Amino acid sequence: MKPGRQPTGNSISQKVEDTEPLPVNSSSGHQPEPLVSPVPQDTMSDHPDSYIAYSFTEKNGKLQKINVPWKDPQEGEIVVKVLACGVCGSDIFVGEQQLPTGLPRIPGHEIVGTVWAVPSTEHKFKVGERVGAGWHGGHCFSCDMCIAGNFSQCRKQTINGIFRDGGYAEYVTLRTECMIYVSEDLDPAETAPLLCAGITAFNSIRHMDASPGDLVAVQGIGGIGHLAVQYAKAMGFNTVAISSSDAKRELAGRLGASHFVDSSKEPPAKALQTLGGAQMIVCAAPNEKIIEEVLMGLGPNGTLLIIALARASVSIPICQYLSIFRHLLFICCFGWLGGWLIFDLLLQSLL
Ligand SMILES: [Zn+2]
Ligand SMILES: [Zn+2]
Repeated sequence: MKPGRQPTGNSISQKVEDTEPLPVNSSSGHQPEPLVSPVPQDTMSDHPDSYIAYSFTEKNGKLQKINVPWKDPQEGEIVVKVLACGVCGSDIFVGEQQLPTGLPRIPGHEIVGTVWAVPSTEHKFKVGERVGAGWHGGHCFSCDMCIAGNFSQCRKQTINGIFRDGGYAEYVTLRTECMIYVSEDLDPAETAPLLCAGITAFNSIRHMDASPGDLVAVQGIGGIGHLAVQYAKAMGFNTVAISSSDAKRELAGRLGASHFVDSSKEPPAKALQTLGGAQMIVCAAPNEKIIEEVLMGLGPNGTLLIIALARASVSIPICQYLSIFRHLLFICCFGWLGGWLIFDLLLQSLL
């Protein structure tokens, strides 16, 4: 039997008896309170010798079912038993090697799970707690970006499921500095997509200039767009959903859109101008042709926010639009702090 394992299955196992408190300076004779509780915590639940994962093993190949040997977490890491992992469009970047991830690589960066093993040095996360992790997979705390607080732009950042193995697996080893707690009141499968698609929409929209009551359009009601409509509604915007499929009309209304534009039947820019012009257009579908078509739907000083990864070039005749919009932004996420707020918003909607 491995150290830390118990014979009765999946509950928390034996205590670690030799965990040391942080050293205290006793030269003055005064014993200050330790910064961290010295109470030892359980560091590992019962675990297998190996576990199943799905990995890209060759360029343009299919996901392969593999067995991964168990490895105990090192300082700064924890092992999470995966309850749910969302499927993101960028997972295919690994299979196609559009990013130099190296192969084999286990994709998946929308992870919700249970803390299963921690090193004895871990003082924040405890075995049995519900946690989540997204795209951002770790930062160094010491580069110029980190010192400025821009952790998601760390010079040495890593990305879950891209540059380190992700959540298409029974277990995943994650860095703690970019993890969050997840309420057990939330369904893991419904929550996981919020950790990439959700935070991309939420954190970008809330940092724009639009105010409650403004006309805000969301182009593309797919993985990101259907969440963007809900956030836009919750932020008090007069929300317009734009889709090339009339089949999305009913869904968009249910998600909170006040207006629906079928871009296969009417020019979306003209429809938006009829409504007064958009303060912000959120492009959430990777369709460069539609992005070009919606531009003239912006009102004065409007913002075009592109959060879709269109693979072809987007052509923008700058002179024609110079007086129309002042912001043209390509956003991924602004910091990880939004990870907390996003769940607050969801929890409030459940109350
Ligand atoms: Zn993603
Ligand atoms: Zn850094």
